[in-house]
Amino acid sequence: MKKGIHPEYYPQAQVICGCGNTFTTGATKPVIKTDICSACHPFFTGEQRIVDTAGQVERFMRRLEKREEGTKGAKVRGG
Ligand SMILES: [Zn+2]
Repeated sequence: MKKGIHPEYYPQAQVICGCGNTFTTGATKPVIKTDICSACHPFFTGEQRIVDTAGQVERFMRRLEKREEGTKGAKVRGG
């Protein structure tokens, strides 16, 4: 390997997940913080959980609530 062009490699880098799970891996950073890992990702847990770190779903649900309040008492078209 050429010297000076490669980032430092940490064979025992610690990964810390938002769910509390930690494990070690090889990486170019000594510590990696992540929101999702193989212990809590819906694909591995089988849960129908929405991964929504940016709060987009929450924002949408709030908007939906507001809209429903606005239509209360109003005539709803049959369909
Ligand atoms: Zn996790």
